[in-house]
Amino acid sequence: MGTTFEIAVFEGDGIGPEITGPTVDILRRMSDASDAYALTFTDAPAGAAHYAKTGESLPEASMDIARRSDAILLSAMGLPEVRYADGTEISPQIDLRKALTLFAGVRPVTVRAGQNTPLNMPEGKEIDFVLIRESTEGLFYTQGSGEVTENEARETLLITRDISEKLFKFTFELAQNRKNAGRGTGRVTCVDKANVFRAFAFFREMFDVEAKRHPELSADHAYVDATALWMVQKPWDFDVLVTENMFGDILSDLGAGLMGGLGLAPSADIGLENAVFQPCHGSAPDIAGQGLANPHAMILSAAMMLDWLGIKHDNPALLADGKRLREAVENVVADGRVLTRDLGGSAGTQDAAAAVLDSLFVA
Ligand code: NAD
Repeated sequence: MGTTFEIAVFEGDGIGPEITGPTVDILRRMSDASDAYALTFTDAPAGAAHYAKTGESLPEASMDIARRSDAILLSAMGLPEVRYADGTEISPQIDLRKALTLFAGVRPVTVRAGQNTPLNMPEGKEIDFVLIRESTEGLFYTQGSGEVTENEARETLLITRDISEKLFKFTFELAQNRKNAGRGTGRVTCVDKANVFRAFAFFREMFDVEAKRHPELSADHAYVDATALWMVQKPWDFDVLVTENMFGDILSDLGAGLMGGLGLAPSADIGLENAVFQPCHGSAPDIAGQGLANPHAMILSAAMMLDWLGIKHDNPALLADGKRLREAVENVVADGRVLTRDLGGSAGTQDAAAAVLDSLFVA
């Protein structure tokens, strides 16, 4: 049966439970079929609906489940009408990121042949790069506590040596793993604004120090404004990009746009010990409860989880199943017969997930 890994499951709000169920079913099937690993799942209640019911958005018992688990699978949290007394929204996914110091936000951007994209793709080109967004500091450092007077408002951008060194070490290791897996060219690009801000010159300096430790990979720099342009003009040239929190926030939505929308955009928030895997989209209250949600971003996030567990625990079977699951979703999307409404089809959540299972076990 191999090693057992415990997965904490935050099914969240809105469409969350609808996309979590089929994703966990797929993972169970893969685990049952494997001799090299087993997955167990523990539900961790949290979110806006939970807050409305109990007055707690992220109960300590759920934090304990998250801390002791081997990985955390999360759908989406928050409902626009459920708010704290200060008017801000319930967002335990951000609290988890802070509590577990998940400094690396990993956002893969892939467009395969046949996939819908607003770009005019040259013949034979595909997009396959990873954007890594620092997720605990940068311009989000004073989030919610910026100073506002009658005539001025100030927020602080914080770049620390501690987090930056961890971020760059993680980034180069990820680029090496991609290269070893035959994906990517081993090129890492630091995206900054070092021409204007001293904080970004500091960021870049630490990037260069880490780059020197990886002579088998190539490293370069790009300004964030030029990167936005190139992400539209020649995104197939990128391999691994690493950047500050706010720049990453903006560029990752541009990446989701290249992929034809949020329904195919997975993500991970990774620290030294823990990691959360969740789709980039929110709880989509406008379509919740109708069985219309696209489950693919969540299934692709689960595939990233298998990859990450495989690398962390040196378990080739998990790595192979991560790849198999990602390719199964890509096959279903490229095939085009079973697509949800957001991708131009008419299939429901269950049918889209069943097509992935068929691609894994029947095709
Ligand atoms: P959203 O991502 O939930 O929805 C934006 C649009 O995309 C909607 O039209 C929705 O129907 C559609 N959409 C999103 N996911 C889809 C899917 N899987 N399949 C098909 N269509 C999908 O963004 P929003 O409406 O701005 O936010 C709704 C709630 O989600 C808010 O409370 C917000 O705070 C929360 N939110 C949570 C997260 C998170 O948990 N990481 C991220 C973003 C927003």
